[in-house]
Amino acid sequence: MQNRPEKLINDGVRLDGRGPDEIRPIKIEAGVLNRADGSCYIEWGGNKVLAAVYGPREAHPRHLQDSRKAIIKYRYNMASFSVEDRKRPGPDRRSVEISKVSREALAPVLMLEYFPRSSIDIFVEILQADAGTRTTGITAASVALADAGIPMKNLVSAISVGKADGEVILDLIREEDNYGEADMPVAMITETGDITLLQMDGNLTGEEFIKALNFAKKGCESVYKLQRRSLIEKYEKSCSD
Ligand code: ADP
Repeated sequence: MQNRPEKLINDGVRLDGRGPDEIRPIKIEAGVLNRADGSCYIEWGGNKVLAAVYGPREAHPRHLQDSRKAIIKYRYNMASFSVEDRKRPGPDRRSVEISKVSREALAPVLMLEYFPRSSIDIFVEILQADAGTRTTGITAASVALADAGIPMKNLVSAISVGKADGEVILDLIREEDNYGEADMPVAMITETGDITLLQMDGNLTGEEFIKALNFAKKGCESVYKLQRRSLIEKYEKSCSD
């Protein structure tokens, strides 16, 4: 891994030229895979993430079935070639934790009670990583679920906030994530403001926390618009085909 840059923020300008509350360029495409029931591909700064959804389908093995609602399976996987030093393939503690919190971040918007004994399977593949992969994954999975036609109350949008060189910042890059003072991924139902995921690595004062949360809300509003746009584009395209 490269060494810590001397400064992460220089006169309010970050390493990639952004201001504290600016997000990286984001491109979202819905319905990119023919074999999945729903899918989404996102390029978000240096992140490249693919989400695929299957279901609702009969849950296997059967002992996992819930007679009252569908279960959600979420698999976050980082490709070996997604990071600078080859990542050892297969699940590890980090991917198990991310899969769990991501599943819980999406559950509140899914109408699981419509599909007893079923399973909704979500696969998130990180093809290229540059910090914020769990939030990019949740954002992509949310679009893929909608693309699969699974009844949802709303979309979930996600972004990370944090602190570097004493400043609260939105949408961290890897250097800010690795060498900054705090990293706080947030997922929310943007239209209602309900937060479905909030983790914190590092420390923020109460004041900084409020500022970070406001940055996250602003970021999620931008992400939400792009998520909606990607779904509209997909349906406009399928209507004209
Ligand atoms: P997130 O990607 O959600 O921000 P982390 O804070 O755990 O999650 O990771 C921050 C970044 O550190 C990742 O996006 C990736 O660029 C890098 N990273 C994570 N795990 C590894 C790993 N095993 N090897 C190399 N880089 C990694």
